[in-house]
Amino acid sequence: MKLLEGKTALIFGIANDHSIAWGIAQAMHEHGARLAFSYASQILERRVRPLAEKVNAVFIELCDVSQDEDIAAMFARAADELGTIDILVHSIAFANREELTSPFYETSREGFRIAMDISVYSLVALARAALPLMTKGGSILTLSYYGGQKVMPNYNVMGIAKAALETATRYLAADLGPHDIRVNAISAGPIRTLSSAGISGFKRMYRQFAAITPLQRNITINDIGGAAVWLTSDLARAVTGEVLFVDAGFNILGFPALREQIQL
Ligand code: NAP
Repeated sequence: MKLLEGKTALIFGIANDHSIAWGIAQAMHEHGARLAFSYASQILERRVRPLAEKVNAVFIELCDVSQDEDIAAMFARAADELGTIDILVHSIAFANREELTSPFYETSREGFRIAMDISVYSLVALARAALPLMTKGGSILTLSYYGGQKVMPNYNVMGIAKAALETATRYLAADLGPHDIRVNAISAGPIRTLSSAGISGFKRMYRQFAAITPLQRNITINDIGGAAVWLTSDLARAVTGEVLFVDAGFNILGFPALREQIQL
């Protein structure tokens, strides 16, 4: 059974075939959605175009979400080539590397601003731009991390950004509910991607994750894709403003069961 037959999705945040947004795009394609992608810089086009071809994306367009004119151009093209859209996927975050390696109290004013602009304000800007194209209602999905709720080593300003992103999800859900537009977040467990490679100590944490979680496994981009399909499909039509954990149960633990095989 295809859950997204007849739906059109605009996907932001594919950098390569390890990106969470790519896992989501593949799952949405398998479920019958028509897709279009943005890419963040000219350098990425070379990697994103072949992926777009694999899932028959209608178009790919450059969109740096810190630039209002890029966002306007992206949605003008979507209006021209797609008409209306049903799904918007926001899988974007950025912080300067030094903010993810130093103590949190050393966060610079400019580093804080950049992280909040690209990782949080962009959701607000994209939701506003999508509104005129979501004429039949719609579903907006963003990606969060548990570091927005609890302290994670070196996640620092991104933790503040994810807390703000989850709150923005709720405010947008309240604003857009009367338009029958749902806004939700998936809080993903750790996955090895370009972004996570910038977090100091991530690899070590990733290696120990499977031994700690209730499901005894790591998370894949396909796991996120499956949850994203459900959340943006009509099966989840009464779900909005939520943060859905897709983390093998890690977030329910107060303290992990210490098993012999955990090497600290
Ligand atoms: P990723 O493949 O590096 O994706 C992040 C995307 O954000 C990239 O395509 C990146 O493009 C884009 N981006 C950064 N600045 C941008 C800008 N100014 N304009 C447009 N796009 C921009 O890493 P990912 O892990 O899949 O991350 C996707 C989302 O999942 C992020 O919100 C991340 O915080 C979240 N998440 C990740 C994990 C994890 O463990 N990986 C866990 C939970 C949540 P560039 O490469 O050009 O910068």
